[in-house]
Amino acid sequence: MSSPTAPSDPAALPFLPFALPEIGEDEIAEVVDTLRHGWVTTGPKARRFEQDFAAFLGGADAAPGLEAIAVNSATAGLHLALEAVGVGPGDEVITTTHTFTASAEVARYLGADVRLVDIDPATLCIDPAAIEAAITPRTKAIVPVHFAGRAAEMGEILALARRHGLKVVEDAAHALPTTHAGQMIGTLASDVTVFSFYANKTITTGEGGMAVTRDPALAARMKVMRLHGINRDAFDRFTAKVPSWYYEIVAPGFKYNLTDIAAALGIHQLRRAREFRDARARIAAQYDALLADLPLTLPPQPAAGDLHSWHIYVLRLADNAPVGRDAVIEALFAAGIGSSVHYIPLHQQPYWRERYQLRAEDFPHSQKAYEATFSLPLYSRMTPADAERVAAVLRGVLAR
Ligand SMILES: *Cc1c(COP(=O)(O)O)cnc(C)c1O
Repeated sequence: MSSPTAPSDPAALPFLPFALPEIGEDEIAEVVDTLRHGWVTTGPKARRFEQDFAAFLGGADAAPGLEAIAVNSATAGLHLALEAVGVGPGDEVITTTHTFTASAEVARYLGADVRLVDIDPATLCIDPAAIEAAITPRTKAIVPVHFAGRAAEMGEILALARRHGLKVVEDAAHALPTTHAGQMIGTLASDVTVFSFYANKTITTGEGGMAVTRDPALAARMKVMRLHGINRDAFDRFTAKVPSWYYEIVAPGFKYNLTDIAAALGIHQLRRAREFRDARARIAAQYDALLADLPLTLPPQPAAGDLHSWHIYVLRLADNAPVGRDAVIEALFAAGIGSSVHYIPLHQQPYWRERYQLRAEDFPHSQKAYEATFSLPLYSRMTPADAERVAAVLRGVLAR
């Protein structure tokens, strides 16, 4: 038996988690500063985070009038966005089956129905032709998802939305930073784009999200509905120089504001978003090179010249792979390596399947991807040796 730390005894290596945030001293100091100053809920840091976020996406140059609205999750942001564009009972919202349930559940909050559609296997993103085929007189909005951080086919989606008079709310939970046709996701011609800062996303505030729009009416509605339907900002109310106790409730709003404690993290995470992306892109490229000769389909690449955020590294087993997906995940786990599946498609989830009587054969590309797919660890703190360790385990189970 070799020494316990030798690579020949991989089970003795420390566990390599599937995801891990990178929180630095700047984030910690900013949170402590927030705590010391006493304004812990939505206030100056949330506002600064919003301004920095709009500037990060390109500011006034890339997107005149772009406003960023901080919320306590992307799910909250998607709910606010669909509410603001007017989704309600009797409407239909089209989204991809190959996503997390948040992309779809928000339509149900508003009493609308969800039409799930299949993906393009080349991108794993929603198939524009499948969207067009699912449009009915009740269709109100499309929610494309930039799967894994590779942009969906937004040119086609925005064109068909215009042709049919539909709203577009991008679920950009994976897409910071991502570009489509050279433009940052968040600055395209959609109605609203929503980012996530959940613990395992490309930057994190623990829980948090950002809704961005260039439409002042949508921004105003989302701000009111973010905080109880109050027609002015809580922060303004308590910091104005004149007595300002008066406010009006204009709608039954929600409680979706981001705290300054969370925004303190976000301000510094955002500054490192490109550095984090580049680190993930290097690991992704290293995986690509190490795994190229195995019976695997490597992750979809971005369109030429575009930026992929590399939030998730998604592999699919080839039809001739010697073992199945579950065995690969077990082998990785036995070697002390975390992995995941993106996604168990919504058409396979009991709620969605039963609610809309969905059948796997109606989503052949998503179903096939699901059965063969697994995702490898990918985060900024990974080292080249970590990636080699993962690739060696895959080579062990997949090479013939
Ligand atoms: C994480 C995620 C969400 C939800 O984000 P939260 O900030 O946790 O609400 C929505 N859509 C997709 C595709 C996601 O991966």
